[in-house]
Parts: sequence; C-alpha cells; structure tokens
Amino acid sequence: MKAVVVNSEGNGVEIVANKEMRSLETGEALVDIEYCGVCHTDLHVAHGDFGKVPGRILGHEGIGVVKELAPDVKSLKVGDRVSVAWFFEGCGTCEYCTTGRETLCRSVKNAGYSVDGGMAEKCIVTADYAVKVPEGLDPAQASSITCAGVTTYKAIKEAKVEPGQWVVIYGAGGLGNLAVQYAKKVFNAHVIAVDINQDKLELAKEVGADFTINGKVIEDVPGLIKEKTDGGAHSTVVTAVSKVAFNQAVDSVRAGGRVVAVGLPSEMMELSIVKTVLDGIQVIGSLVGTRKDLEEAFQFGAEGLVVPVVQKRPVEEAVAVFDEMEAGTIQGRMVLDFTN
Ligand SMILES: [Zn+2]
Ligand SMILES: [Zn+2]
Repeated sequence: MKAVVVNSEGNGVEIVANKEMRSLETGEALVDIEYCGVCHTDLHVAHGDFGKVPGRILGHEGIGVVKELAPDVKSLKVGDRVSVAWFFEGCGTCEYCTTGRETLCRSVKNAGYSVDGGMAEKCIVTADYAVKVPEGLDPAQASSITCAGVTTYKAIKEAKVEPGQWVVIYGAGGLGNLAVQYAKKVFNAHVIAVDINQDKLELAKEVGADFTINGKVIEDVPGLIKEKTDGGAHSTVVTAVSKVAFNQAVDSVRAGGRVVAVGLPSEMMELSIVKTVLDGIQVIGSLVGTRKDLEEAFQFGAEGLVVPVVQKRPVEEAVAVFDEMEAGTIQGRMVLDFTN
C-alpha cells in the first residue's frame, strides 16, 4: 500500500508505494484511511527530533472507515468512521489511565511515532482507543479536530474559561484558529488573538476573535491586553512556538489568571516568581486530549460550531506539503487525501 514514511536515514519524509501490512491481532481494527492532516509534530518526528524512527508511517490526524475487525472487538463495527490520533493507546491501568488523565500515561503509544500512523491507505488501530467520528462531520475537517481541535479544546478546558471572560490566544495558526473558535463558539468567551502574521489575524477575526493584536506592530502587547480587558485576561492559551509569546502571556493575565502552554518552543520561559506568588498565577501544560475530549471536540464540529479550515492535497504531494510546512507558508491545515 501507499504510505508516507520517515526515510531510511531517519531525517526526512518519503512516499513509498509498497509498504507491507501485517495482519490483525486481538483488539485491533483495520481502517481504510480517507484523510490525514499534516502537523508540525510530524515534521519533528520526520527530522528525528524525538529520536530517529526510519520507516515509520507518519500521521496522527487520520480519519477512515473500519474495514475489518479482530473477532474479539466489541466497541466498533465495520463501516464506522474513526480517528487515528496522537494518543493512540494508553496502558489502561496506571494512575493516569484510571483517573481521566490517560494522555499522561507513561506507557503511551503515539500514532506516527511509536506506532505506524494514519498517512497510509490503511492503518491498524486499537479498537477501544479509536474515537468514532459523529454523523454530519466532514471527514477532512474531522482530521484537523483529531489533533489541533482536541488540543485546543482541551487547553481551553484547562484554562477553566467561563462565559463572558477574556481569553487570549497566542498564535493564530492551525491550532490558534481552532482555539479561537472553541473559545468563542463553545465556551462563550471574549477572545483576543495575538500573532505576528496579519493574514492569520484576519482569519482569526473571520472565525470570531473580538480583537486581534499584531505583535510585530504593537510594542507592548500585554499593556494593550490589560487596557482592552480592564486589568488583564482571565486566561491565555499559548499555541505560538515562541518564547516571546509565553513571556507576554504571563504578563497578560489578571490576578488569579491561568496560562495554558500548548506550543513547544525548545526554550525556557521566564516566569516572575513575584508575579506568580502575589498575583496567584497558574501556569499549566496541556497535551492533546483524552478519548472523551476528542468525542466532545468532534461533536461541536458536527454541530457546526467549529469549522476547521482545511485544504485537501493528493498524497503524491506529501513531500511538498512537508517542505511548505518547514518554510512556514501554510495557512490553515493541509490534509492528505487518500480517497483516490
Ligand atoms: Zn498534530
Ligand atoms: Zn497508563
């Protein structure tokens, strides 16, 4: 079968035409992939940033239809549309798996990294961990919710946003755009989007941001936020891969505010101990979402509250898409199309 894999040197991407498929084992389902989104994390995996994985099938934003089931599987049936997510499988028994924090499982398997992922014509999933895509949700859009959508939905949950509160979304790219939509349409918050790219801010405005700030134009971003929000935002979600954004985020929240970290710049953030203590600031890391979070994030998509901006690209263009991602020229989400 055709698949997008990490090359034999473990430092790039290649398309192979004849990847072998193993047979199903207990608890597994075979999925015919329709679409798989391309994410920055795939770029990190391809480059070997988390350790080299030559030959690994990439992709953790896969959507497809169940074609075949191992005899013991009860949770899915043939014909169900399901997802292949970064949180591919947990151990099911550890303290995290049994307390609603399964994404923190120390024995977690990640699609497109520690196990083969969704960038192929077929993918084997652990049936109980493959979240069903509800009726009425476009499969290409669902692929984007599988990663960017659930990640931002979960982050806003972690921010404990209440209706009418101010939340600032740092970074208005693929993640940030969805964060704006969930914050505005699902949590009924007032939303400020910050980015250094005007096009992305225009898109953020179109999908519901009440106010946008271009960090390249405005010198004192936290100052402007404090002015607009009467003393600081209640919370911020930082999707930007930038230390500057993280530091600005801490300065943007009011006393008791929460800073939820999602972006992954490989740097340290500066955190004023005085502000943290005296203002009671909370800084929280948030990683993807549980199966339940994904189910909820999908449902809001199916109800039309959240509409991912996706662009379908034939799988043959996969290498070009990775190059574009590296160059930073992508707007919204690129989704590889396996339906032909
Ligand atoms: Zn992703
Ligand atoms: Zn576990």
